[in-house]
Amino acid sequence: MADFSLELNEDQLQIQKWVHDFAENVIRPVAHEWDEREETPWPVIEEAAKVGLYSLDFVTNAFMDPTGITFPLVMEEMCWGDAGITLAIFGTTLGVSGILGNGTPEQIAEWIPQCFGTPDDIHIASFAVSEPDAGSDVSNLRTRAVYDEATDEWVLNGTKTWITNGGIDKVPNVHVIVASVEPELKSRGHASFVVPPGTPGLSMGQKFKKHGIRASHTAEVVLSDCRIPGSCLLGGKEKLDERLARAREGKRTRTQAAMSTFEASRPLVGAQALGIARAAYEYSLDYAKERQAFGRPIIDNQAIAFKLADMKMEIDAARLLVWRATWMARNGKEFTSGEGSMSKLKAGEVAVKATEEAIQILGGYGYVREYPVERWHRDAKIYTIFEGTSEIQRLVVARAISGIHVR
Ligand SMILES: Cc1cc2nc3c(=O)[nH]c(=O)nc-3n(C[C@H](O)[C@H](O)[C@H](O)COP(=O)(O)OP(=O)(O)OC[C@H]3O[C@@H](n4cnc5c(N)ncnc54)[C@H](O)[C@@H]3O)c2cc1C
Repeated sequence: MADFSLELNEDQLQIQKWVHDFAENVIRPVAHEWDEREETPWPVIEEAAKVGLYSLDFVTNAFMDPTGITFPLVMEEMCWGDAGITLAIFGTTLGVSGILGNGTPEQIAEWIPQCFGTPDDIHIASFAVSEPDAGSDVSNLRTRAVYDEATDEWVLNGTKTWITNGGIDKVPNVHVIVASVEPELKSRGHASFVVPPGTPGLSMGQKFKKHGIRASHTAEVVLSDCRIPGSCLLGGKEKLDERLARAREGKRTRTQAAMSTFEASRPLVGAQALGIARAAYEYSLDYAKERQAFGRPIIDNQAIAFKLADMKMEIDAARLLVWRATWMARNGKEFTSGEGSMSKLKAGEVAVKATEEAIQILGGYGYVREYPVERWHRDAKIYTIFEGTSEIQRLVVARAISGIHVR
């Protein structure tokens, strides 16, 4: 087990600088353009793959760091560059988490490399659980998976919505789909499936135009008699049958398919929000020292300086929660008080508040597209919504600390 330390080691400092340089030199200069275009920034993904940032090796090494702190460092620096582009590059890790959280060792070895491909043959992945009538209420999934014993295939039908990277077919795309095998069992009757790239019956529905993170693709995924081999059921049939049998008898089951993925990824999503918050804080601090009003820099006014003091304090507090959660997760410590949810909740709300204060500090300049803070404000908002809304995170924490099924 790694001791918890706030002192970054040599490796972490080097990685942090390397990613920061990429964010500063490759991402920031094109962030405004891709936000306006509302398209996946393929050239930036290609560059990330070329330098080894978008690769199985890099993600594995960052993830395997025993302190648990390297991956959040990477996410923070990337989103300091731009959150939409970061999600376009690292949205794939959601699908990867779905495979890692539910797959057998053989399935993990088979599918995770296919989520990344190589610099000359880029692949991506997506994780699809949300549906039009099942966002926070994951138990209400309508997408059905039916086993066809004659062909040893699963047949998927349904519509997924709000899916990051969903339905993209420009490059091979590994979709991880959470579907209901036994609807009467609600979320205990769910299972996760890999849909290999190019499988007939999976297509993209509507692509959404969004408020923020506009370089990240968000769309519906339509499954229409989509047939996949039996081996694409993550965890395998035997395990699923055992789990369903236990659920039918009313016994406890280990985890729910979607929930185990979200638990692992929430603190990293919090780290992304931190990157946006820090960008807004640094920018508005510099601005407040330069901008003159009434013959003196606006930071001379407590009204402005105190905002910046609060922003810095809140960002540091959120980072401590994120690092605690990733350290706990990496070192096998159980979240007993919803520590993963707490970190994402705090960081998401800090990002919204910090970017709003940054607009206030810039005044009219904060409100126009020539300056980046209005984009950061739009980008920050998603962090109180996806991967569980702020209300749902509070529910998780409240239930964990009380032992009561608070509603
Ligand atoms: C840009 C974007 C990308 C996304 N990417 C993905 C993805 O890759 N994969 C994926 O599966 N999903 C993805 N999502 C879906 C996202 O996780 C859901 O939007 C989110 O979980 C909320 O669900 P909903 O939109 O249906 O809102 P609802 O669940 O309808 O919630 C509406 C409001 O009611 C509140 N609410 C609901 N239930 C309760 C309760 N019990 N107590 C208190 N308040 C409650 C919510 O907090 C919210 O404020 C994405 C969404 C967006 C916008």
